[in-house]
Amino acid sequence: MNESIVCMNNINPQKIAVVTGASRGIGRAIAIRLAQDGFVVGVHYGSHSAAAAQTVSAIEEQGGKAYAFSSDLAVPDIGTQFWEAHDTAAALEAGIDPASIAVLVNNAGITLRGTIENFSQDDFLLQQTINVNAPYFIVREALPRMGEGGRIINISSGVTRIAFPEIIGYALTKGAIDAFTLTLAQHLGSRGITVNAVAPGVVDTDINADWLRGNQEVIDGVTADVALGRLGQPEDIAKVVSFLASEDGGWVTGQVIDATGGTHL
Ligand code: NAD
Repeated sequence: MNESIVCMNNINPQKIAVVTGASRGIGRAIAIRLAQDGFVVGVHYGSHSAAAAQTVSAIEEQGGKAYAFSSDLAVPDIGTQFWEAHDTAAALEAGIDPASIAVLVNNAGITLRGTIENFSQDDFLLQQTINVNAPYFIVREALPRMGEGGRIINISSGVTRIAFPEIIGYALTKGAIDAFTLTLAQHLGSRGITVNAVAPGVVDTDINADWLRGNQEVIDGVTADVALGRLGQPEDIAKVVSFLASEDGGWVTGQVIDATGGTHL
């Protein structure tokens, strides 16, 4: 029996971990990993219900417990809508009390490309809405549901440290996430809640599919700048999130953990 199955036997219905954008990519890997760690996982998704169902199935096949719920992060009043959708699914599909959240992972995000001269205001604002406003208001409404030992983990990016002018608007959103992480950690420390961010480098997911996937020349160019010599995989990021969500990670707060495999050191 492998280690993950052993962990699954320790599912704790009081330990809910909610992961945004968990239908695919890094979010899916985080959801699966946190389920292996014993959390009941709320699998948030935007519109891809079949993909979200696959995340839930993957968790259940390993003996874990999860439920999916949908909420478009680009809508006004996202905080309220997100948690209403969550609570309905948690109660109906999983039969659990949704009032207590142990872990919230703000993973969902978009990358829209363009230099400052070539980036529309509409794209700028949409990206800001999904990458910054949504986590802020989702956290705000989550706070009454989190107790001592709670964990908030935001997915940032290496682009706050390494300049990529062609995604300047995206870098701005992740810089905001880092500032949010630091400031919120100070504010929530007295409640015993930690707040950290994880900053991936280039990870092989759909967000990069248009310029990266299948293009060996580009992949070689990217990995030449990575000390560990390869692209990141979603599981690499999930492992770091797992540590921050764990009891062992409880003395770390207000940090942005670089998980780029040593990119541009
Ligand atoms: P992805 O495109 O595979 O996943 C993004 C997720 O966000 C999807 O599940 C998508 O449905 C969700 N999402 C996007 N817009 C949404 C909306 N309006 N409403 C609801 N859900 C929405 O990309 P990924 O690589 O898995 O990205 C996950 C996180 O990691 C993002 O925050 C991204 O910025 C960050 N990141 C990724 C990389 C990388 O190279 N892949 C590097 C650094 C940081």
